[in-house]
Amino acid sequence: MSFADLGLSDDIVRAVTELGYTEPTPIQLQAIPAVLTGRDLLAGAQTGTGKTAGFTLPILHRLANRAAKGPSTGRPPVRALILTPTRELAAQVEESVRNYGKYLKLTSMTMFGGVSINPQIKQLRSRVDILVATPGRLLDHVQQGTLDLSKVEILVLDEADRMLDMGFIRDIKKILSLLPRERQNLLFSATFSDEIKALADSLLQSPELIEVARRNATADTIAQKIYPVDRDKKRQLLAHLIKEHNWFQVLVFTRTKHGANRLAEQLDKDGISALAIHGNKSQGARTRALSEFKDGTLQVLVATDIAARGIDIDQLPHVVNYELPNVPEDYVHRIGRTGRAGAEGEAVSLVCVDEKKLLADIERVIKREIPREIVPGFEPDPHAKPEPIQQRSGGGGRQGQGQGRGRSGGGGGGQPRQPQGSGSGKPAGSQGQGKTQSRQPVAQAGNHNSRGPGVGRRPTGRHH
Ligand code: AMP
Repeated sequence: MSFADLGLSDDIVRAVTELGYTEPTPIQLQAIPAVLTGRDLLAGAQTGTGKTAGFTLPILHRLANRAAKGPSTGRPPVRALILTPTRELAAQVEESVRNYGKYLKLTSMTMFGGVSINPQIKQLRSRVDILVATPGRLLDHVQQGTLDLSKVEILVLDEADRMLDMGFIRDIKKILSLLPRERQNLLFSATFSDEIKALADSLLQSPELIEVARRNATADTIAQKIYPVDRDKKRQLLAHLIKEHNWFQVLVFTRTKHGANRLAEQLDKDGISALAIHGNKSQGARTRALSEFKDGTLQVLVATDIAARGIDIDQLPHVVNYELPNVPEDYVHRIGRTGRAGAEGEAVSLVCVDEKKLLADIERVIKREIPREIVPGFEPDPHAKPEPIQQRSGGGGRQGQGQGRGRSGGGGGGQPRQPQGSGSGKPAGSQGQGKTQSRQPVAQAGNHNSRGPGVGRRPTGRHH
């Protein structure tokens, strides 16, 4: 089945062919025809599956084939709104929109915080058909009266689970109230918590339900390994591994922003070029770090889960879990960054005695035992006692559910805000983490195209 067979116009097929896409991915095979019909869609898919083209291509097709509604005079309206949890994802999705739509007369724009609002206001004065935005900055524009959403025909919530994890639910509800009642809604989520189900129930009308297999943790192309090591030897072991194997383009995950900063600094002192990327960094610093990492100038990028979300780097050779994530699904997300497009990938985890339970949870979820390897010189102390895991370092971590955005904080967009009054010694996880623990994977492949009240169904929890 080719892209042309799916009913997409020649201009769109030409653009994707030029990008080297020869055939649609499974999510595209299902999503493209569904979106072309104009129906609402609930899709379980994560980054790396080709989901962006899955919604972007049919949106481009629909908009290009229909004239905008409304008066023919005045500023043309925004016709499609794509909401994403992070700035990076917004930028990447909009880049895809431009690439896929290069032979069409449609225009697009990104809108996120952390950068000056003025160029965005200026850009909004010209025609913007497709707007890709993070919720915070979008509402800043609405408040300033610089954005009219009353003619939106198609709404996409991309990575909706992350948006909820990051506390954007109130913003999303506010945005929904600004849209016309009659519109097409597409909701993409990697996991199905009760909050996602509630959101889907309130947002979608008899949606087409699409599920694709997770980028699974058992892919043959991803070699997984555990290095048992003492807590205080992790940094030396990481430096040793990177130097010993001459690893380049290493994406290292830490649990906290502070931990990411500290590790990047220490690696740099060890003679390994490293930068941290997380929500407290300026947009400029993040973009710079990412582009240096992509072009290979920067050897190591240290990231928190949220910052890493949406970073799409093809064929990333090395992913390191410097600390295991609290939620097993995040392990799957993390290692899904490697071994893309059939390329070899390696995902290693440095695990100390404190993380034994986290490791057991992960192995239960991925239904396999990950091989252990002890590096000579880094043998863990068999008598070491576990200590509680510090999850938040004076204001890092994932923001809790229901935390509104602080209007004054940090330029309005796309990153988790600091929970007010948190970071006060309250154990991390007491807010948002508790919710994310219960996140469930969307029902898996094998149930393709099942219709009906999918959101009310219990997730199967199966993994491939
Ligand atoms: P996504 O899941 O949307 O983040 O896409 C992951 C990666 O797959 C991106 O780098 C896309 O450019 C690429 N991609 C998307 N669709 C296809 C396709 N049909 N064939 C080859 N690569 C694709």
